[in-house]
Amino acid sequence: MSTQRLGVYPGTFDPITKGHMDIIARATKLVDRLIIGVARNAGKGPLFSIDERVEIVRDEVAALNGAGAQIEVRAFDNLLMHFVEDCGASVIIRGLRAVSDFEYEFQMAGMNARLNSEIETVFLMAADRYQFIASRFVKEIGLLGGDVRHFVGPRVADRLESRFARERPAADEDALRKATGR
Ligand code: ADP
Repeated sequence: MSTQRLGVYPGTFDPITKGHMDIIARATKLVDRLIIGVARNAGKGPLFSIDERVEIVRDEVAALNGAGAQIEVRAFDNLLMHFVEDCGASVIIRGLRAVSDFEYEFQMAGMNARLNSEIETVFLMAADRYQFIASRFVKEIGLLGGDVRHFVGPRVADRLESRFARERPAADEDALRKATGR
């Protein structure tokens, strides 16, 4: 039997932030190999397609892999526990920001433990400087023309900027229509 410890870090990563990157870097110290599972999550109406999100995450972790980490990025669309089993992993990694994440994460970990009690969910506390970063707010800030470079890596920021440069005229028109009632 292999003695390699394999972990899965699942999420929507729409897009990947500095908070996610911090969890990834720290998780690589706990497991020998880390699979980042990018959930299709169509229900959440993601800004970036699943292929784009996978590509963005791959770009962002390339430097860690270059430095010797073993990180793989895979898309998934099925039940998380089935994906984790298919990967042959024994650990699910999740990040935990103060207060806001607790109830959801607690419930999810409890239900996943029922589905497969052999697989442990391990929580890493968000670093205090990344505590307030959430993909959702990064997207809102980007859409309204704010500087997202505080929250995401430069390549991700460029992607957000070019995406919103395309969408902003439509968003502005929408706002104008709402404001003028026309
Ligand atoms: P999901 O849709 O599964 O919540 P996310 O991409 O939003 O996907 O988050 C994936 C995981 O990363 C979750 O465990 C979330 O709590 C964690 N996470 C998100 N942002 C941060 C952050 N700034 N610091 C630490 N963990 C984070």
